[in-house]
Amino acid sequence: MAEMTSIAPADVLAQPAAFKRRGLLFVLSSPSGAGKSTISRKLLADDDGLTMSVSATTRAMRPGEEDGKDYHFVDLATFKDMVGNNEFLEWAHVFDHRYGTPREPVEGMLEAGHDVLFDIDWQGAQQLYQLAGGDVVRVFILPPSMVELERRLRGRRTDSDEVIERRMARAHSEIAHWDGYDYVLVNDDADACFAKVRTILHAERLKRSRQTGLIGFIRKLDRADS
Ligand code: ADP
Ligand code: 5GP
Repeated sequence: MAEMTSIAPADVLAQPAAFKRRGLLFVLSSPSGAGKSTISRKLLADDDGLTMSVSATTRAMRPGEEDGKDYHFVDLATFKDMVGNNEFLEWAHVFDHRYGTPREPVEGMLEAGHDVLFDIDWQGAQQLYQLAGGDVVRVFILPPSMVELERRLRGRRTDSDEVIERRMARAHSEIAHWDGYDYVLVNDDADACFAKVRTILHAERLKRSRQTGLIGFIRKLDRADS
């Protein structure tokens, strides 16, 4: 893997004292076509406290995609400059292209008290975990079968036969990284899978370790006159 930017978790995750909970870095990964964009869209529509991290990529824009919304579409020279300027939290080669998570917006969102959603591959999940450890929640989405995965890729009508073949070939090596995730779900029915992902997000938010205001509250409860 090419060089990786580094950042102290404390810088990324610093929260103003007023916030009662630490921000989450919520990662959704899957082999291409398994449905993570579909689940992400549902999650974002459902949840005001969650903001999408918009990656930069050197790949071409697909029909229907919007620059700045789906990705920041940049050329290779710009991407390399961004790497050189330490502008990425993580980046990786995927399908002969480069993809990276711009650092500043993520830091801004966490500081503003938002949880951040990442649609990134296993390499990105691994790098974010190295940076921010327990504040990262990693969810891996599997297709019900490889036949269904190919059907979804074709049904999306965004890629040529050649690109679909490459995505299918790569799917096996992506699936091989299933054990680098905290949760693994099968996306059979999209609504049911979305409901499970939402449950994970809600439960993770309630973890004791994330509730930074708890000690003060417990001390108050402990006082006889409270
Ligand atoms: P990814 O982001 O993982 O590449 P997408 O969310 O783009 O995948 O989904 C690929 C295609 O499969 C899309 O056309 C989408 O509408 C469809 N799809 C997603 N989830 C399901 C599902 N549970 N059942 C059937 N089709 C699905
Ligand atoms: P696609 O070209 O289908 O949009 O994305 C291809 C793959 O790149 C997907 O698995 C997606 O999750 C991953 N990806 C998108 N953005 C990033 C990123 O910023 N970093 C990393 N590591 N992977 C990314």
